[in-house]
Amino acid sequence: MDELRSKLFYEQKNGYDLIGTDERIDCENYCAAYMRFLNASRTEREAVKNAVALAEDEGFVPYVPGMALHPGMKLYQKNRDKALFLAVIGKRSLAEGAVIAGAHVDAPRLDLKQVPLYESDELCYLRTHYYGGIKKYQWVTIPLELHGVVMLRDGSSVEIALGREKDEPKFVITDLLPHLAADQMKKTMAEGITGEGLNLLIGSAPYADEGGDRVKLAVLSLLNDLYGLTEEDFISAELVAVPAFDVCEIGLDRSLIGGYGHDDRVCAFAELRAILDVEAPERSCVCILADKEEIGSEGVSGMQSAAFDTFMKDLCESQGVALRRCYEKSVCLSADVTAAFDPLYPEVSEKRNEARINYGVGVCKFTGVKGKIQSSDASAELVGRLRRLFTDKKVVWQMTELGKVDQGGGGTIAKFMAKRNIDTIDAGVPVLSMHAPFEVVAKLDCYMTYKAALSAFEAL
Ligand code: MN
Ligand code: MN
Repeated sequence: MDELRSKLFYEQKNGYDLIGTDERIDCENYCAAYMRFLNASRTEREAVKNAVALAEDEGFVPYVPGMALHPGMKLYQKNRDKALFLAVIGKRSLAEGAVIAGAHVDAPRLDLKQVPLYESDELCYLRTHYYGGIKKYQWVTIPLELHGVVMLRDGSSVEIALGREKDEPKFVITDLLPHLAADQMKKTMAEGITGEGLNLLIGSAPYADEGGDRVKLAVLSLLNDLYGLTEEDFISAELVAVPAFDVCEIGLDRSLIGGYGHDDRVCAFAELRAILDVEAPERSCVCILADKEEIGSEGVSGMQSAAFDTFMKDLCESQGVALRRCYEKSVCLSADVTAAFDPLYPEVSEKRNEARINYGVGVCKFTGVKGKIQSSDASAELVGRLRRLFTDKKVVWQMTELGKVDQGGGGTIAKFMAKRNIDTIDAGVPVLSMHAPFEVVAKLDCYMTYKAALSAFEAL
């Protein structure tokens, strides 16, 4: 019976039972580099900037449309400083398709409103408008830092990153003390903290003069000294408040990583590192770091934008290939995080079909909600190809879907890639506390997602 069981049953193993000491060392080194990247990449703009720096170190050069392409060429193109495409030209023509990996580098956060600054009872605040799916109560009473860019009236721009360094001030959204929160505590978690209540405390010391706006005046004069800002300049600014926690190891065994923005910079770094490491691939490899996934992949820098098609069309034209011919033969790993089974909240999961921490990269055949609505649902053929590849390359992986049927759901860039007639499947790192200001992933799963992306570039 035991023999028959092991022959017929599908059984998963914890990744630690499958990897050796050498691979554990590789995993540690990989994760140390990822932690540095994540710590320094608090916004999509910073992620793109840091990715370009890493790519240039590895010999990638800016792509100029019309360039003659030859195998092994390493190219990148930025889309408005907020998204990035990288390519390594393969030995075969783009008529045979490309291997694409796409992740996103935007993350849930608190954007400042365009007229954000106000004073109330001698305290100064910035009003925010949240971006992406957040549980609002998680964003109060934690240290926040301010990042972004301001376009000044004269057309020049100022970059701001305030609170990242140890000695720099942070900001905070206050909450009610429990002693006076009897009414608040009766509200639902969705109502207890409101969108209009997410106002950032940024100052309290008044300007030495008279008036009901002395604190605001003092704050603005500091901003003016530091960055040359006036109140009107916020109108043409993209400033965001993000958690000010440093990325760190979690657990006595240091097996986990805590930090802000794992979704989806953990997969973005995996596919980035993979395309930097791929050597002389057969088919051309393309890596996407997209923006705006958290609000539906909209806008010029999201995956619904024609910017990606333009990049690919330019590459194809250099080889006399029609874009549609390239797309129909291409394959895409939509590298996005998935929910990890959380033993503290088992009621939302169907355990057999949920990703588990340390069981490797999670492959998602479909996303969506209810009856797979809004999902691109990868074919059995594509799952089969991936299954063979990952088994051959000793990638620790698992099949997953997002929670119980009818419990909820979500989407990724997958359906927008599939719409282009590209065979697409989701694969990424399982995350605990996804979309919280401080998310948790397992080192082993991070490393296996890198290995999955590298295997795909080399042989999918
Ligand atoms: Mn994501
Ligand atoms: Mn997300």
